[in-house]
Order: sequence, then C-alpha cells, then structure tokens
Amino acid sequence: MSAMQSIQSLKCSSVYGPVKSWRFGNSLGIDPIGVVSTCSFNCVYCQLGKIQTHTNQRQIFVNTSQIIEDLQALAFDEQVDVVTLSGSGEPTLALNLGEILAIAKQLTKRPTVVLTNATLLKDPQVRHALKSADIVAAKLDAISSNQLQRVNQPVATINLPYILAGIEQFRGEYQGNLAIQTMVLSPWTTEMIELYIQQIQRLQPNEIQLNVPTRPRVLVRQLEARGNDATEFIPNAMHQLKCISTDIITALADTINCATNIPVRYRGVGV
Ligand code: SF4
Repeated sequence: MSAMQSIQSLKCSSVYGPVKSWRFGNSLGIDPIGVVSTCSFNCVYCQLGKIQTHTNQRQIFVNTSQIIEDLQALAFDEQVDVVTLSGSGEPTLALNLGEILAIAKQLTKRPTVVLTNATLLKDPQVRHALKSADIVAAKLDAISSNQLQRVNQPVATINLPYILAGIEQFRGEYQGNLAIQTMVLSPWTTEMIELYIQQIQRLQPNEIQLNVPTRPRVLVRQLEARGNDATEFIPNAMHQLKCISTDIITALADTINCATNIPVRYRGVGV
C-alpha cells in the first residue's frame, strides 16, 4: 500500500455516534484528536489500547473547518441529548478546543460535554476554553502518586499534586457543571476512601461518577473504540480487566455521598 493510500484509508470523520452514555444519554461525539491516539495518560483500562503518542504538548490535530464540515454533513438526529468532546485521546490537548466548543454549540444547539483527564487544567488557556462547556467531567482515579503511576501512567512531568491543583483552580473559576469521574479497578481500603473524600471535599464538584471497566481493553488502536460508552464494539485483540462487584461499588458510592453530601452516580457490572 502506498503512503497516500494508507493516509486515505485512515481518514475518518471527526464526528461519531451518537453513542448511549450511562452518564449523559444519547451523546454525539466530536473527536478533536483524530487517527493517532494522543494523550498525557496511558491508562491501563483505556479502550483505545496503548496510547500511540504520549504527550502533554498542545497542538491542532483536526482543523476546526474539518469539524464544521463533518458536523454539517450529519443528518442531525433529534435523539441527541448532548455533544461530547472525547474520542481518540485527551481533548484539552487540542489547541482549537474553545473554537470547537463554540461551533458545536452553534451548529447542534445541544449542551456540550468535555471528558478530560484533568492533566492540563493548570494551563490558563485550557481553563478559559473549558469555561464555555456546559459540563466538564474531570478524571480522578488516583489518590496517591503510586496509584497514579500504576493506573494512569502519566507523562513524566505530570504528578498528582499538579493535577489536584489544576482541578481546584478550575473549580474556583468554572460556573458550569463539574463532575469528577473515577474508575474503580479494585476494592478500596478505608484509608483510600478517607483520602478520596478529603479530596472531594476540597474540590467541591457538582457530582461524582464512579465507573468500573465493563469492556475488555483492546491491545492495539482501533478507531471504532472511541465511543466512550459504546457497548456494541467487540475487538479481536483484547485484555480482560478484573471487575469489582456491584455491591462494592454501591457501598462505596453510599459512603462517599454520606460524607460529602454530593450526588454520586455509578455504574456497576452489567448495569
Ligand atoms: S485519559 Fe482517557 S484517553 Fe487518555 S489514556 Fe486514559 S482513558 Fe485513554
């Protein structure tokens, strides 16, 4: 296959779905990253497989004009509840994030959601761009540096205090709906729960979303896996992740809700 053919075969729409999201309803996805998965994390459960470009350098990956064209080409479905920026990696790496949020709102007239791993929230330009999103779901899987390294595998310059400081700063400025999204991979000790609650009390999100891995992790990049909550896609090469029981996640949600008085939504196994 020639280089040109291979680029052509990789060309894809920056708009996908809608996919059914347990958190947001029918979600139309906008992927500001494109064909090469790019993220400042390389989470052990990432459904994109091993991240291809591990970086925290911002750039334009998909031109805004391309996203406009892809949105306009869509026969817009009335069943779409929200438009979500997610897809092939960390959306805040896209330098045109603010522009994309503005045109998504203008063209779809739907609430906009950004799913972020929160590693760039210390950057004032990122916080400014995110202000126009209706909902920001910020990932917080780890309450210790060890856990961050083990679960999220960040680029070398990113550590837990830096991430927490970014979320706190963003919370102080953001008037929209801030959710903390946490993937629970194994039962937490009492000490871990207490530490998590302390962080939540400092960060004061509008809600907490606890998740468990419900799908096997693909081992190699597959574009079809970018629908964050899609349930239909079954990859060939995959790694089965252990899952904690619904009883454990329910008890954890109750404990966090009682201690913080913040709504906790969760998805158990098979839910
Ligand atoms: S932050 Fe999201 S896109 Fe990045 S590696 Fe983790 S799960 Fe994948």
